[in-house]
Amino acid sequence: MKLVCPLCNGLYPVEFNCEKCNSLMEDQGAKVNFYDDYSPYLLDEITSRADGVSSEKCIHIFLCPNCGYKNDYVIERKEI
Ligand SMILES: [Zn+2]
Ligand SMILES: [Zn+2]
Repeated sequence: MKLVCPLCNGLYPVEFNCEKCNSLMEDQGAKVNFYDDYSPYLLDEITSRADGVSSEKCIHIFLCPNCGYKNDYVIERKEI
């Protein structure tokens, strides 16, 4: 049993609508990638250890392609 982020692992898409214009937002990747690109292949481990980030959650940045609105969303990890 292992907890994984469905977005990082390509299990299924998680979609959010833009708060400004209601367009479908695009996943820009896990937030951990933006401040730690030192070991991109250990994403799950880094996320689990990062301060203040639960191992059961993965934070992703979503960008609206229509108006440029950007926001972070917490993605629940799933057991596989
Ligand atoms: Zn993720
Ligand atoms: Zn928008």
